[in-house]
Amino acid sequence: MVFVLICANHFNSIFEYYIRQLRRIFLSRGKRPKWMIDIAIERMNILFERAEMEFITHPERSHRYVELARKLSTKYNTKIPQKWSRRYCKKCGRFLYYGHNSSVRLVDEKVNIFCGECGHVMRIPYSKEKKNKRRAKYESIKKRNDE
Ligand SMILES: [Zn+2]
Repeated sequence: MVFVLICANHFNSIFEYYIRQLRRIFLSRGKRPKWMIDIAIERMNILFERAEMEFITHPERSHRYVELARKLSTKYNTKIPQKWSRRYCKKCGRFLYYGHNSSVRLVDEKVNIFCGECGHVMRIPYSKEKKNKRRAKYESIKKRNDE
């Protein structure tokens, strides 16, 4: 009887050890292993694709998908993929569908993305791209002169 009890105790301690290890992996803060981050990015991509697909018929669903994707990005400490980073409002967190609830304009060397839900305007400068374009042009001219 005592032996069985000791065995059970031993088993319990092993069990607790594994639970603690699992908790360390899944609930800890800080940097996550790469495979976990890859899965999170894949899931964020899927969520945004769904959001784009369902915006016309169910806009509230796509706003919810954006909320879930942003939660994932904070939990796994990763950025939202660059393709989708301009597709939601940074202030109210709603999904932006160009031509329906948002508009894009170029003003003062900036990309202005207007959110029709809350009126917030995101301004993203494109001076770097312009500089690179100018440099590429200059280098191509130089190359032509050298030949
Ligand atoms: Zn907004």
